[in-house]
Amino acid sequence: MPPLLLPRLVEVAVDAPLPNPLTYALPERLEDIVTVGQRLLVPLGNRRVTGYVVGLDVESPPETELKEVIDLLDPLPLFSPELLGLFRFASRYYFVPLAEVIKTALPAGINVKTRAALRLSDAGRRECDRWRELEAARLAPSDPGEALGLLLRLEVEGSVEVARLLRAKPPTPKNLIERLKKSKLVVVTQEAPGARVKVKTEAGIRLACAADPEAVERMKKKAREQARLYAELVEHGALSSSQLRGRYRDPARLMRGLIKAGIAEASRLPVERDPFEIDLCPPPAPARLMPGQQDALAAIGAAIDARRFQPFLIEGVTGSGKTEIYLRAIEQALAAGRGAIVLAPEIALTPQLVSRFKSRFVNERVAVLHSGLGPGERHDQWWAIRRGDARIVIGARSAVFAPVSPLGVIVVDEEQEQAYKQDHGFAYNARDLALKRAQEEQAAVVLGSATPSLESARRGRDGDYGRIVLRERVESRPLAEVEVVDLRETAEADNARLRGLALEERVKERDRIAAERLLSERMQTALETTLERGEQSIILMNRRGVSSFFLCFDCGRRFVCPACDVSLVHHRARSSAADPNYGAPSPMGYLLCHYCGYHEPAPEVCPDCRGVRVFPFGTGTEQVELMLRARFPGARIMRLDSDVLTGRESWYQSLDRIHRREVDIIVGTQMVAKGHDLPGVTLAGVLLADLALDLPDFRAAERTFQLLTQVAGRAGRGDATGRVIVQTFRPEHYAIRHAVAQDFDGFYNEEAGRRERLHYPPFGRLANLRFAGLDGDLTRDAAKKIAGVARRLTRRGEFNEVRVLGPSPAPIGRIRGKWRWMMLVQAPTPQLLTEFLRPLLNAVNKVQLGRVDFFLDRDPLNML
Ligand SMILES: [Zn+2]
Ligand SMILES: [Zn+2]
Repeated sequence: MPPLLLPRLVEVAVDAPLPNPLTYALPERLEDIVTVGQRLLVPLGNRRVTGYVVGLDVESPPETELKEVIDLLDPLPLFSPELLGLFRFASRYYFVPLAEVIKTALPAGINVKTRAALRLSDAGRRECDRWRELEAARLAPSDPGEALGLLLRLEVEGSVEVARLLRAKPPTPKNLIERLKKSKLVVVTQEAPGARVKVKTEAGIRLACAADPEAVERMKKKAREQARLYAELVEHGALSSSQLRGRYRDPARLMRGLIKAGIAEASRLPVERDPFEIDLCPPPAPARLMPGQQDALAAIGAAIDARRFQPFLIEGVTGSGKTEIYLRAIEQALAAGRGAIVLAPEIALTPQLVSRFKSRFVNERVAVLHSGLGPGERHDQWWAIRRGDARIVIGARSAVFAPVSPLGVIVVDEEQEQAYKQDHGFAYNARDLALKRAQEEQAAVVLGSATPSLESARRGRDGDYGRIVLRERVESRPLAEVEVVDLRETAEADNARLRGLALEERVKERDRIAAERLLSERMQTALETTLERGEQSIILMNRRGVSSFFLCFDCGRRFVCPACDVSLVHHRARSSAADPNYGAPSPMGYLLCHYCGYHEPAPEVCPDCRGVRVFPFGTGTEQVELMLRARFPGARIMRLDSDVLTGRESWYQSLDRIHRREVDIIVGTQMVAKGHDLPGVTLAGVLLADLALDLPDFRAAERTFQLLTQVAGRAGRGDATGRVIVQTFRPEHYAIRHAVAQDFDGFYNEEAGRRERLHYPPFGRLANLRFAGLDGDLTRDAAKKIAGVARRLTRRGEFNEVRVLGPSPAPIGRIRGKWRWMMLVQAPTPQLLTEFLRPLLNAVNKVQLGRVDFFLDRDPLNML
């Protein structure tokens, strides 16, 4: 008997909730054309599902009946072997099925059905030009004819779907399209729907295809303004009403006149409104680099030229020239025939940043990937990168997966930003994956920040990263002066009055006093002066998530968990009945640690200073806005926070208004402090720095330091020296002291010591297991059940260094109706954490959690 010819086997990550890829047999017709990175249609149960080829010629798993692949879906692979290496790592590290990782990495629009559309070829464009020249010389035939008519239409509209042409009334004859195709005047492209839907149009006119020459002559003699407009129209082909505004007395009437005479046609013209296309005249490349920049670039360039994986951390204050280093490193990568990815936190993807890259690389196509893109636009950008047309990619976190190949350098700007972390589903951190990707691709990685994360700062100091410190600012511009206002008051009068009041009255009165005190004399005077000078101010009220924190207004005492050193959060007693979790109700409510569940009744008197002004305090940007409006009735005040901003449009509009000086005072959350050049702003005020300090998060001090440093970088970027005023109850706190002195090293040393003592990252690793459900009791029980499993696991010898904290309610106890619980796992190394999580997650899969959602957040950044 001849030996059986065995089929080729492939490993396929199927789009279904399965932990591991499956093995399929290839039918003979596909044997030689399937490669890693393509999509297949495969059978799964009685269904047919999409899968990604992740392995070729794998071994047959024992005792299973092999099924055969149904079809091949892509002519080209969608990802490279290097990217597959990254996907496999991410799947193991974050405990997410490989197919889900791949699905996240590929743009959602990739499956969009494309439609055939016509576009002008270069020859077609020349044909249009020629016709207009003839027209101008009055040599053109009166009717351009159907063919030329279509070309002229394409010139204005860019592209037209073939199906639309055939359906139109009267329809465009099919053979006409064929003829134009054959003569290479048009090209047929496959376009994703949605690519054009977002193009805004406005009213305008274009030259009529069949203008009567006699009418033109008549008009030229009779109406001088119309003739001027006509001449301009001949030159441009089409004009929008906004282009005419201000240059003609009554453009609308003139346009109507030309249309009525049959010389022009009404038309909708696209408005260039893509904010990334705005020409903002970014600064030209400096002729010379500062010495610090030069050394940095030499080191990065050496890694790029040697095709060597090497990470760098640039610690550089605002304005120290980090971007210039990024730009030159990319130049070097391009010169070596390789591409670049630049990651920026979403909110920093401003027109300024993008136009700076585009203007530097005029001969390159720069692809931009961010969440504001429609599926069609995303699809176009992605394919431009995949084809190699765009070698430079600027994007938010998902751009870490952009199919740039070969890759020379990845830049992660503001590497500490939380925006790099996806906080649902496949909860990856793009900065961390950038490092892994660069390793797979033998590329350089450049992390940059004025205030690096403790994680990166430590690796820079340990020598894992090439550390580059830029202390000098370009042109030696001074940083803004930071002044601190101490909000503590030991106003005995207040206390005496409060003591005399009944509890309920006392609460009301102290809230009123607190709000009043929030705008200190110094802050008011500074605002007034800035207003008088016609300059702009930013007022920051960094309020996020947690509604209230607990504070002694006399001595500034913080209330922290004795075990976890995170702020306790104040909760009002839910009812007069005893709470099963927290015991007898206290009229003042209770204070709760959201990491470990520790709780205590909220005190009526401060245990440190015996003052009675201890109470929860919460206020938002809205109240601050009202307060400022009352105090400065003439000022133009704008509020900028996520409630006000609904999308990219309003964000750019707001920035634009600030740039045009239509606003005097901007009130906002920390987003206003980030990554934008606002040259008119000379005063930045932080109303309550303690809000960041008191977040129930072990990174609260780090966040406070980052926020204050960013604010200081905001005021005084232009020529005017800025002023920064920080109000706080705790001026002696090290995060505030070092931020005021702009001393990152000083801050790092104190914070690192604290983290090491408590085994928080970067000294040890964390995973947050989250539970959410509509039924509060079920959710709590599910969390407790898993915590029980986890605690039993820690009794095994190999896991005795692992610590389990909680479960406890999440600081934001309820989101969209769902109760939230969390449980933390702490381990000294990432390897041990992975080994611990594996059996734990297996157990989670076996335990019936009912209708409770479970979600693993590894290396969590958002602890709320
Ligand atoms: Zn006190
Ligand atoms: Zn605790």
